[in-house]
Amino acid sequence: MPFDQDKAPFELPKLPYADDALAPVISANTISFHHGKHHKAYVDNLNNLIKGTPYAELTLGEIIKKSAKDDKAKGIFNNSAQVWNHTFYWHSMNAKAGAPAGKIKQALQDSFGSVEEFQKAFKAAAVGQFGSGWAWLVAKDGKLAIETTSNADTPLAHGGKPLLVADVWEHAYYLDFQNRRPDHVQAWLEKLVNWSFAEENLG
Ligand code: FE
Repeated sequence: MPFDQDKAPFELPKLPYADDALAPVISANTISFHHGKHHKAYVDNLNNLIKGTPYAELTLGEIIKKSAKDDKAKGIFNNSAQVWNHTFYWHSMNAKAGAPAGKIKQALQDSFGSVEEFQKAFKAAAVGQFGSGWAWLVAKDGKLAIETTSNADTPLAHGGKPLLVADVWEHAYYLDFQNRRPDHVQAWLEKLVNWSFAEENLG
């Protein structure tokens, strides 16, 4: 997860594909708001919040871990985690990635029984996350597991090893699917998952 090594002042990272690469599941319009406005706002807020504080000397990963334990740094935690979560999310998708294969396919089968069972469980978790948050595939105790987090929270803050993430904040799908989060997650699982990124993260 090299994005956690960045230092202030943080910059909005470039998308790893064109704005319209994920259409029609995620339209260029959604991407332009989500990346250009939402993600950018987290970057700008973070830079403003840490200016002149000891947090300005740390890497993004260090900021997330330290602020997670600091009751007076809730804004810093929320914005730093959202910066990292969104960068990780952009890389979790790729319109050309296709079905899981090789080592990651084997790991999904060992942990969930089959790729289909994984998809069912991931969809249920993502749809069941009440309100804003994230659905993650993580490596845990030598297996793969599904976790959800609320708002800005991230496995990175708790020593977890994320492989993939789906953003289930409404801003991720509302322009394309309105309130139909289950349809968005289904299409996301079928068409957008970047399995080579997940396999790289598995290490
Ligand atoms: Fe988002």
